[in-house]
Amino acid sequence: MRADNQDDMYLEKRERMVREQIERRDIRTPSVLEAMRAVPRHLFVLPDQQNHAYSDGALRIGHGQTISQPYIVALMTDLLKLQDDETVLEVGTGSGYQAAVLAHIAEEVHTIERHAALSDNAALIFEELGIENVHLYVGDGTLGLPDQAPFQAIMVTAAAPKVPQALLDQLDDGGRLVLPVGRRFSQVLEVWQRVGAKYEQEAVTAVAFVPLIGEEGWSEGTGDRSLMW
Ligand code: SAM
Repeated sequence: MRADNQDDMYLEKRERMVREQIERRDIRTPSVLEAMRAVPRHLFVLPDQQNHAYSDGALRIGHGQTISQPYIVALMTDLLKLQDDETVLEVGTGSGYQAAVLAHIAEEVHTIERHAALSDNAALIFEELGIENVHLYVGDGTLGLPDQAPFQAIMVTAAAPKVPQALLDQLDDGGRLVLPVGRRFSQVLEVWQRVGAKYEQEAVTAVAFVPLIGEEGWSEGTGDRSLMW
């Protein structure tokens, strides 16, 4: 990633974010902490939100969507247990911040977003930062990306009414899927792991995300409530 940290006036804020919001909440995986320290979150938020980029919450990014709270980004990344030679699918590019964090750890990241304008904006930021291992797609991520499968890890950053079967199908053996599942305004963060022909599932914590809208998600017109993760 091209960025001179010495010149980064946000470096101190980012360091404090990692210490107080992430390490203090018991995320200890070195690669995750390093990625959270490295990715300049303020470049992924709206210009008038840059002062709040390192605060302990979600922020609006336009189109009724949000960039998730830093802790949730770190937690979901941690739950994926990523190795540096793995390929990840992210559903819900949004600002591109989560994809940049994943790209700092994994070999390749494929990220799909239903709003072309958000995807285009994220592409510009990746270019500016010299991030070359993120591949962007516009479409319905509930169907995954069959042409790029299998994935060693899949992260869904919007709330699903149920786990999309297409995503389970596109997990590699041993692969992990992290996603919020539940009702429209409250969900549980779940981790699924493929073990041969079977799946193991674990519920982690309560969350509240914007809806996953698509064939294996909610239908269009499901109202958004601002500042969900
Ligand atoms: N990961 C994002 C980030 O780092 O900024 C935050 C994502 S935001 C909480 C959820 C995103 O999922 C929104 O941008 C929304 O448009 C997108 N989304 C919802 N349904 C989708 C679908 N079926 N396919 C792809 N993206 C979808």
